[in-house]
Amino acid sequence: ETIGQLLAGTAQRFPDRPAAVFRGQGIRWTWSEFAEEVDRLAVALVEIGIEKGDRVGIWSPNRAEWLLTQFATARIGAILVNINPAYRVVELEYALNKVACKAIICAERFKSSNYLEMLLEIAPELAAQHAGRLDVERLSDLRIVVSMDGSDLPGVLAFSDLMARGSAALEGGAGAILAALDAELFSDEPINIQFTSGTTGAPKGATLTHRNIVNNARYVAMAMRLSEADVLCVPVPLYHCFGMVLGVLSCVSTGASMVFPGESFDPGVTLAALAEENCTALHGVPTMFIAQLEHPDFASFNLSHLRTGIMAGSPCPIETMKKAVAKMHLAEITIAYGMTETSPVSFQSSTTDPLDKRTTTVGRIQPHLEVKIVDEYGSIVPIGATGELCTKGYSVMQGYWRDEEKTHESIVDGWMHTGDLATLDADGYCNIVGRLKDMLIRSGENIYPREIEEFLFRHPKIQNAQVFGVPDKKNGEEVCAWVVLREGETATVEEVREFCRGQIAHFKVPRYVHFVSELPMTVTGKVQKFAMREQMIRLLE
Ligand code: ATP
Ligand code: MG
Repeated sequence: ETIGQLLAGTAQRFPDRPAAVFRGQGIRWTWSEFAEEVDRLAVALVEIGIEKGDRVGIWSPNRAEWLLTQFATARIGAILVNINPAYRVVELEYALNKVACKAIICAERFKSSNYLEMLLEIAPELAAQHAGRLDVERLSDLRIVVSMDGSDLPGVLAFSDLMARGSAALEGGAGAILAALDAELFSDEPINIQFTSGTTGAPKGATLTHRNIVNNARYVAMAMRLSEADVLCVPVPLYHCFGMVLGVLSCVSTGASMVFPGESFDPGVTLAALAEENCTALHGVPTMFIAQLEHPDFASFNLSHLRTGIMAGSPCPIETMKKAVAKMHLAEITIAYGMTETSPVSFQSSTTDPLDKRTTTVGRIQPHLEVKIVDEYGSIVPIGATGELCTKGYSVMQGYWRDEEKTHESIVDGWMHTGDLATLDADGYCNIVGRLKDMLIRSGENIYPREIEEFLFRHPKIQNAQVFGVPDKKNGEEVCAWVVLREGETATVEEVREFCRGQIAHFKVPRYVHFVSELPMTVTGKVQKFAMREQMIRLLE
């Protein structure tokens, strides 16, 4: 099944049920309205010259136009390229060139960034084209820029004009074009280039097919027992697979409706959406759940409709899981583990798993996937031992876009090497120990930062703690902790170290404790340890 067929099926089954709410824009669609809007845009894209296989960039925070673009491109077989909303000129140019985007659909601005200005800076020939001259050929593939907010700039199309064009074309019988195109689309064709979060360095462009993500969304929805009666709140960015697959596609595959609280995450705005829309499910990375739980007005929001959802994306602190269950009514919350390269989910607990497994592990392997855990020589390790997690099956990406070398490094004989350390117990429950890259070795002892973080999270004054290694002349590496304290609290370095002493092995007690008010994060809400490490090394010099 292709993504277009998935939406068509749901629109047929539940034409008048609610499909999507964009609270920031005041937009509410039923499934049939949503599918009609998608067709308008799809036809318009064909009219402006987008063909099957062309790359179309999307660069915007969570907005209705994002969703339309996701499905309209899929409908005509164009490949959607998700561009990180936080990008600046250099990264944008890198991403667009890397995949040779023909068109980009973008918001005019987001927060302090003016997207259109940045685009015209790297594509001066677009402006020149309109002025009747073509001089600079810097970004040779980009031909079309569409602004969601309209624009007077030369060379920029307005999204609303495009939609109007689509309506006119449909009235003129252009629907036949879509039907003809649909017959030429196959589920094994690439439909999306999804950049990874950039947690460990430069983002990589994973090429995913309809089959990859449609199936993944189905199993993800199944583990949450999602149905058309559910209302899922999606505060995670659409640009990332958490939003577009675990959020959007699992709703489209079940008929559940989706609620987007705003353009980007805000704890208070999300809590209000949960209460006012009677949401039954909530997605988020751990930092988002923490921010909601710590919100000063938390108690004033009625969250009694909540039932399930997914916490994923980075290690989920047991304390946070427990609080989500106890204070947010999320009795059936699940943890998922995955990566962009595997569409994304490979492990997920299900609502029927015992609570202790659901709070402490990432659950069991998804149906139709295989798993192995290997040592540094590639041999499978015994049950309970730590090694690199590898997965195989329908969910593994086609590869990194036009990067054979990187692809072969990470996919060996069909096995995706995740770069994550994990253990499996006898019942198949998986525990993510941490990233291979984050493990540190101090005087020959392997130290997994996650373990220390879990311990620090138990300190009543600590809101967030991140542990990583810094180079050390004597011991090779030393343990460093960055700590965010709860509002109004103060603590000393010695106090934190004293808390650890005698409770965790002496070599794990952080040698350095550094208090900060904010952690360096990706747009997806992940903590960038490489950025902390770089800053810390400078501080220690
Ligand atoms: P990059 O590859 O660009 O450095 P990234 O790996 O963070 O960034 P994603 O594909 O968004 O990009 O994230 C996948 C990674 O997130 C996994 O490899 C894993 O390290 C981490 N992760 C995801 N879910 C979990 C989870 N439930 N528990 C622990 N870690 C998780
Ligand atoms: Mg990664």
